[in-house]
Amino acid sequence: MSGSTECVFCKIATGEIPCLKLFEDEDCLAFLDIGPLAEGHALLIPKRHYQSLADLPGAQLGRMAAHLPRLAAAIVQATEAEGFNVLQNDGQVAGQVVPHVHIHVVPRRPGDSLGYRWNAGSYPAGRAEELCTEIRRALA
Ligand code: AMP
Repeated sequence: MSGSTECVFCKIATGEIPCLKLFEDEDCLAFLDIGPLAEGHALLIPKRHYQSLADLPGAQLGRMAAHLPRLAAAIVQATEAEGFNVLQNDGQVAGQVVPHVHIHVVPRRPGDSLGYRWNAGSYPAGRAEELCTEIRRALA
């Protein structure tokens, strides 16, 4: 497994640092977040070190993502939550503190203190079409 010697999640993946493990397979590991936003808050990581989701091979992400429905359902069941947020902070500007890709699963209850803020914006005339073209070009 390639990894960073300084990366806390690489150390968790190799067992050098302990974690409260939920499951693992050859490629990925799920464990409880040490600073939970809610009881049952879990992290799903690839064992191999990637800093950004954008660097992750699609097949690897697919294998990780395949665990999400079962992991989320188990967390909801165990915490008697009514829903959950799946979140991935990518880059310091987006709130990523640990530079090893991880997907948060945060169980939610009515009236919990986490809140939800989604400040929807809008495009000036023509900007959405322009961006759509630019992103399609980048995808090509
Ligand atoms: P992010 O801001 O998306 O990079 O989130 C990093 C998350 O990793 C935070 O929610 C931390 O509480 C969590 N975390 C950091 N170190 C550990 C650790 N040793 N074990 C479990 N979770 C950790």
